[in-house]
Amino acid sequence: MCADVAPSSRSPPKLNPVRVTIREEEVGERSGDFREVIHSYSKADAVLEAKRCIQCRRPWCVEACPITQDCREYIRLIAAEDFDGAARVTLRDDPLASTLCKVCYHYCEDSCVVGKKGVPVAIRHLKRAAIDHGTHDLVYVASKPKAQRIAVVGAGPAGLMAAWELAVRGYPVTVYEQESQPGGLVRTIPAYRMSMEDLATDLERFRELDVTFVLGTKVGRDLAPEALLKEGFAAVFVSIGTPAHRILGVPGEDLPGVIPALGFLRRANEGAPLPVGKEIVVIGGGDVAMDSVRTALRLSGGGHVTLVYRRSREEMPADAEEFEGAKHEGISFQFLRAPVRIVGQKHVEGLVVQAMELGPPDAGGRRSPIPVPGSETTIPCDTVLVAVGQKADTTGFGAEWGLRLASQGWPEGAGPAYRTAIPGVFAAGGRSVVYAMGAAMEAAAAIDAYLAEKRGEAPTPRPDPFGGNGSFHLPAGYTKPIRV
Ligand SMILES: Cc1cc2nc3c(=O)[nH]c(=O)nc-3n(C[C@H](O)[C@H](O)[C@H](O)COP(=O)(O)OP(=O)(O)OC[C@H]3O[C@@H](n4cnc5c(N)ncnc54)[C@H](O)[C@@H]3O)c2cc1C
Ligand code: SF4
Ligand code: SF4
Repeated sequence: MCADVAPSSRSPPKLNPVRVTIREEEVGERSGDFREVIHSYSKADAVLEAKRCIQCRRPWCVEACPITQDCREYIRLIAAEDFDGAARVTLRDDPLASTLCKVCYHYCEDSCVVGKKGVPVAIRHLKRAAIDHGTHDLVYVASKPKAQRIAVVGAGPAGLMAAWELAVRGYPVTVYEQESQPGGLVRTIPAYRMSMEDLATDLERFRELDVTFVLGTKVGRDLAPEALLKEGFAAVFVSIGTPAHRILGVPGEDLPGVIPALGFLRRANEGAPLPVGKEIVVIGGGDVAMDSVRTALRLSGGGHVTLVYRRSREEMPADAEEFEGAKHEGISFQFLRAPVRIVGQKHVEGLVVQAMELGPPDAGGRRSPIPVPGSETTIPCDTVLVAVGQKADTTGFGAEWGLRLASQGWPEGAGPAYRTAIPGVFAAGGRSVVYAMGAAMEAAAAIDAYLAEKRGEAPTPRPDPFGGNGSFHLPAGYTKPIRV
């Protein structure tokens, strides 16, 4: 399996195109319950896979990672069988590593040079191997304490990353969260992909930092946003994400049996009883739709699940890995079908759909669906899950806050510093866990620069979060500047 890929001084390094296979639960066994589908590499397999990395002088993988995780370095350490060192490097850059090693969409792998000849190095699976086989019960500590207090609104990945970045620099941080638990939309990711214990493991490493969580408090309802500025916070980071679901806007959407996917997934994770029938239709084409079809299948006790999407597979935004997982588990797909109305007497009995054909590309570059006249058909069903997107809830944040909505829905400030109209207030979010964290990383650096200027000091480089003497350094060969 493993070829010798050590670079020679004369010839270019040989690329081994074949990835070491990762073990997955058998389809027949996994689709009836919530056991984790993907396993961890064994130590031996992780070392073999890590040896496929040619340790590029310019680390394309690191440059593609929104949080500049030094994956090249942890892979080098795994190849040298130093799993403790690899775990330390992983956690040094990534405070949510136990989460991301399972759910990150691994943008790094899209840039891996080995991918030019075959399958890229399994950078995300190797991160998991570092965590699983190395010492990962490390605890973060703050550098020299600072007096300026910071409020973070929203404890999703963006809020948690900002809290971590600022707390390790020595700032006391108070995080306000409307839900009873931190995590944001991560708490809707199904247990067959990651468990909530993974998130808890990540948060446990925060325990020595000066981060206070005020849970069950919605800013804008339980507490006026202005109060944060009056309560002595020197800066506020707004990371309220997209916790609300979008509706379809078709007749029949209020019938019993029509369920918004976001609440459905959240309740499934909490183990709440869910009224899933035997003929389930999920509407949507993104990752939430993929999680919904596979969760519904598991809860239906042998039921049949169909996904309805108004464009074709090529335009579908869902992650390829998630789509393949759903396909293997027996989900039916109806592409180029758009919902027209939901029908039923006292409960859902069917979804009426209209055929679509693809027209010219829209502003986003995807081909637009155009209805085909006279093409309506009915899909009989007893449950409809609506997974057509999420949106922000900015209730209570007046126009003076200048919270612009990003094209995918979350509030964010302007420019690379994520500043809002109010001095000292910053806002960010992102389309995936690591993108939200990456934006928060940049915003936190901007908040530190803002507060350092008020103290008459230079910005604080991110210190070693484990209390060592060094500060956070970008890996050698890295060329992409961090924006502040
Ligand atoms: C079902 C599902 C599956 C997903 N799967 C993946 C995946 O596998 N990989 C991946 O990378 N991404 C995935 N995502 C996307 C990812 O979860 C989001 O991109 C990410 O969570 C965004 O982080 P955020 O912090 O910006 O916002 P959110 O996660 O939305 O967090 C915002 C937080 O702010 C809180 N909040 C909102 N308003 C207020 C207020 N007024 N006061 C106090 N608190 C407030 C919310 O309760 C929430 O906790 C998935 C999303 C969903 C819905
Ligand atoms: S966090 Fe995601 S993008 Fe970054 S190195 Fe890890 S898997 Fe790759
Ligand atoms: S781009 Fe691929 S081969 Fe190069 S350092 Fe990163 S993981 Fe290794």
